[in-house]
Amino acid sequence: MEHGLKGKTALITASSKGIGKAVAETFAAEGCKVAICSRTKDDLLSTVNEFKHKFGFEPLWCVCDLNKHSDIENTYNAVVKEYGSVDILVNNCGGPSPGYFFDIDEHDWNFAYEQVLMSVVRFSKLVLPGMIKKQWGRIINITSISVKQPVDNLMLSNSLRAGVTGFAKSLSNEVARHNITINNVAPGLTLTNRLYELAVIEAKEKGTSHEDILSQMAKRVPMNRLAGPEEIASVVLFLASKMAGYVTGTTIQVDGGYVKGLL
Ligand code: NAD
Repeated sequence: MEHGLKGKTALITASSKGIGKAVAETFAAEGCKVAICSRTKDDLLSTVNEFKHKFGFEPLWCVCDLNKHSDIENTYNAVVKEYGSVDILVNNCGGPSPGYFFDIDEHDWNFAYEQVLMSVVRFSKLVLPGMIKKQWGRIINITSISVKQPVDNLMLSNSLRAGVTGFAKSLSNEVARHNITINNVAPGLTLTNRLYELAVIEAKEKGTSHEDILSQMAKRVPMNRLAGPEEIASVVLFLASKMAGYVTGTTIQVDGGYVKGLL
């Protein structure tokens, strides 16, 4: 199937591992010029090596801590210097710390606000003038099923992802006339480092093994299994494709049926 993305430039944030990496690989397989970034140089280099083996080329890579405004600007500038523009921006981030309300202090709130909401605001502000000039662009934010059904012990995610969703909907209306779409993909339980770490924490609390916790998680999903990161990436690809040109301001959950609500 022709997705109409060959030669487009795609910047995927927080992409040395997990869902972000799977998204970057999916765009590379489509013939996009891909840029990846995350905090740790060694992780990035090992992902770059994997790309070389799988696709025969190296993605552009930048060390970028999403909590640092200057890193975000440097990353955007590096991508524009190398590729000329950003056609597709995928805003992913590390998961905010777990915790209930009384576990979280002012510092945690501010950190998560910068990480989850402001990184999306800042990257969007940087890429949009170029997209408006080209009269084409895609912004896709990776959020969480917590926007449809808050998850126990994830107060920060439950609160700040809702902010990203409101931001994306408002902004999508402002830029739709420029042929720019803005959407969110809300993953359900997806087998990555993040889920593994959450399972380890829960296992300690409950005095059981993380394998047991992961298997219990899978049983809560109507499909009776966890998602693979590539299953989230394929929906991101659809939203970036020419087939989704009239889809904007939405959140699509990819959760094997986990969310029980209608919308
Ligand atoms: P992961 O931990 O496997 O990967 C996170 C990536 O983000 C890594 O590349 C890491 O280096 C990078 N990163 C972390 N903090 C960063 C920072 N400050 N600056 C730059 N890069 C940073 O996580 P994942 O499971 O792929 O999750 C990706 C996103 O999807 C997270 O926001 C997570 O909350 C959300 N999500 C995940 C699940 C799941 O089940 N895995 C479910 C719902 C939502």
